[in-house]
Amino acid sequence: MDYQEKVERAAALIKNSTGFYSLTGAGLSTESGIPDFRTPGEGIWEKYDPIKTSSVEVLKNNPRVFYESAFNRFASITLAEPNSGHYALAKMEELGFLKGVVTQNIDGLHVKAGSRKIWEVHGHLRSGYCQGCKKRYTFEELVHQVELKRIPPVCRNCFDVLRPDVVLFGDPMPPIFYEAEDVLRNSCDLMLAAGSSLVVYPVAYLPRLAKKLIIINLAPTDFDEVAEIVIREKCSRALHDIAALLGTEQR
Ligand code: NAD
Repeated sequence: MDYQEKVERAAALIKNSTGFYSLTGAGLSTESGIPDFRTPGEGIWEKYDPIKTSSVEVLKNNPRVFYESAFNRFASITLAEPNSGHYALAKMEELGFLKGVVTQNIDGLHVKAGSRKIWEVHGHLRSGYCQGCKKRYTFEELVHQVELKRIPPVCRNCFDVLRPDVVLFGDPMPPIFYEAEDVLRNSCDLMLAAGSSLVVYPVAYLPRLAKKLIIINLAPTDFDEVAEIVIREKCSRALHDIAALLGTEQR
C-alpha cells in the first residue's frame, strides 16, 4: 500500500468506527519545536538522562538540580504552539468522529489546538502544588519565583517546596490515567497512535485495549505487526490528510 492508499484506508476505518480515540506522544510535538525522548540524534535521552533530573527522588533530595534543569525545559515547552497534527485531531473531534485524545504529552498543545475531550495522563504545565500542604498554584507562579532566583520555589503557607502537575519518574500514575483506561476498555474499537514509540509503560499497554489500531510514527514500534495500518510519515502531514478526507462529512 502506498501513502495515499493508507491515508484513505485510515479515513475509511474511522468512518466505520463506533468508538474512535487517539493516543499521542512526544513525536506529535517535535514539529512544534519540542524534542521527543527517542528520535536518533535529536531525542532528549541522547543529550542527558531525564531520570537524573526529572524524578521524584531528585525533587526530594536535590530540588535545586530539578529546578535548574528539568524545570527550565518544562518552562520552555509552555512557549510552543500547536502544529497541523494537533489541529487535525481537534477537527476530527469537531466533525464528530474522534471521541477523545489520550496524551502522554505535558505540553498542553491539544488544549491550545481546541481539542475538548483530553486525558493528559502524564500531567500538564498549567499548574502546580505544594508538596507539604497541597496548596494549589499556577505554573506561572512557579516560573515567577524561579525568575526571581527563589530556587526552589516554596509555598506561601508552609514554605515547603512546590512542584508542577506533571508525572515525574517515580510518581504513581494519576487517577485520570485509570479513567482513560476504563473508557478505552469499554468503548474503543479503533485507536490512532500518533508520534509515540509505545515503549513507556503503563501507557504503552493502552493500544491493547483497542480492537483495531492505526499507527503514525517515523520509527517502527513493537505494535506495528498487530496494526491495521502503519503510516511511516510525519504526524502533521498524515493527520492533516486524514482529517481532510473526513472533512466534508459530519457524524
Ligand atoms: P518517544 O520520544 O519515546 O517517541 C517518539 C516517537 O515519535 C519516536 O518513535 C519518533 O520516531 C516519533 N516521531 C518523532 N517526530 C515525529 C513526527 N514529526 N511524526 C511522526 N513520528 C515522529 O515519545 P513517547 O512515546 O511520547 O514517550 C516519551 C515520554 O516523554 C512520554 O511519557 C512523554 O510524557 C514525555 N515527553 C513529552 C514531551 C511533550 O510533552 N511534548 C516531550 C518529550 C517527552
